[in-house]
Amino acid sequence: MLRNDQLAEWDRDNFFHPSTHLAQFARGDLQNRVISGGEGLYIEDRDGNKTLDAFAGLYCVNIGYGRQEVADAIAAQAKELAYYHSYVGHGTEASITLAKMILDRAPTNMSKVYFGLSGSDANETNIKLVWYYNNVLDRPKKKKIISRWRGYHGSGLMTGSLTGLELFHNKFDLPLSQVVHTDAPYYFRRENVDQTEAEFVQQCVDSLDELIAREGADTIAAFIGEPVLGTGGIVPPPTGYWKAIQAVLKKHDILLIADEVVTGFGRLGSMFGSDHYDIEPDIITIAKGLTSAYAPLSGSIVSKKVWKILEEGTDKLGPIGHGWTYSAHPIGAAAGVANLKLIDEMNLVSNAREMGAYFNEGLKSALSDISIVGDVRGEGILSAIEFVKDRDDRTFFDPADKVGPQIATALLERSKVIGRAMPQGDILGFAPPLCMTKDEADIIIEAARDAIANVAEKIL
Ligand code: PLP
Repeated sequence: MLRNDQLAEWDRDNFFHPSTHLAQFARGDLQNRVISGGEGLYIEDRDGNKTLDAFAGLYCVNIGYGRQEVADAIAAQAKELAYYHSYVGHGTEASITLAKMILDRAPTNMSKVYFGLSGSDANETNIKLVWYYNNVLDRPKKKKIISRWRGYHGSGLMTGSLTGLELFHNKFDLPLSQVVHTDAPYYFRRENVDQTEAEFVQQCVDSLDELIAREGADTIAAFIGEPVLGTGGIVPPPTGYWKAIQAVLKKHDILLIADEVVTGFGRLGSMFGSDHYDIEPDIITIAKGLTSAYAPLSGSIVSKKVWKILEEGTDKLGPIGHGWTYSAHPIGAAAGVANLKLIDEMNLVSNAREMGAYFNEGLKSALSDISIVGDVRGEGILSAIEFVKDRDDRTFFDPADKVGPQIATALLERSKVIGRAMPQGDILGFAPPLCMTKDEADIIIEAARDAIANVAEKIL
């Protein structure tokens, strides 16, 4: 077995890590961490440190770490048939079964599932499908996509453009010209603090209406949004937001893509965020919770309305020119089948609802007397704490002070609990596995209180 110092050296010399300060890592200012095991909510590194992962990896390990059932299903599939492609009508028992299981759980009016490997590539697929759809309908100008500032939809060329976070655009020549951004439904950060939630929703609607009028409805193909804004700050929508936005989209014949990469398969305490908020999407993006990240797999769930046009298109034009070597990979599909079975058997959707409510309430009451806590919000097992310099007039910290990252570091160092410093703003995010127990929720709440109080004392 390799020694840790040997691995650290190889790591620095050879491995290009995503979302990493490359220079700091190369210089050794940023330490590597080699993860070697996991069970339930806990992960373990090669130095033997056990950590409670209250972000489920990247909000993806919904069933928790180390579930033998999924490992066994992957091993069995690998032994029986590790790979065959899914082009021209090919498939495996696992991929066909999984497509059916997804549609059995999906909102009504959905028709078919296309399988990819990541949330990013699924959204890339979605935009191609939307363009194809409008070309088949002979509307060649109707191609632009509306996304929200602070939305997160991946980091490819199109999907990085859809993502409304500066970090993902800077120096990459993004966003592409076909993407336009509209307001984030972020009530806590409203400009006018006296505005009511209803007035704020109306402002989001007006600003979307104005954008559509400016660009021309005949140039806009689709709107993409996460039911709950995720990486942009973990922000549940204000009451009435989705209903009002959908009315605008319907009026202008604009398709709706619900990006459920985080919210799909239980995170909000319902199987899909679309059901949770009465969203009627034309396409749904799924990934993460589909396999609990035990193997890479994503999907685009296509509605009956869109599917009908795709079929018509192939009658006119021949086979659809879209597909990857690894689409519907049997090992990913086998992981997906075993994972969805476990979600049912372990009652994880209702556990997410109950434990999520307990956790969110617990955070609110434990943190209410700490002055830098400006907002505690959440839905299901997805929560955020936003920090402010002054609670009364809601002034934010200078981003250079890195208050959010300082708190995430204190949480890890003092209590061995992982929370995520969200990339834009001083926000600590939590998205533990859906199997979290009351005791585990209490540990995270206590650790959060300790870390926040500790940093508050240093900076105030
Ligand atoms: N969409 C949403 C809502 C996400 O949160 C993410 C990743 O966090 C993606 C898409 C991209 O998924 P991936 O990182 O698998 O490409």
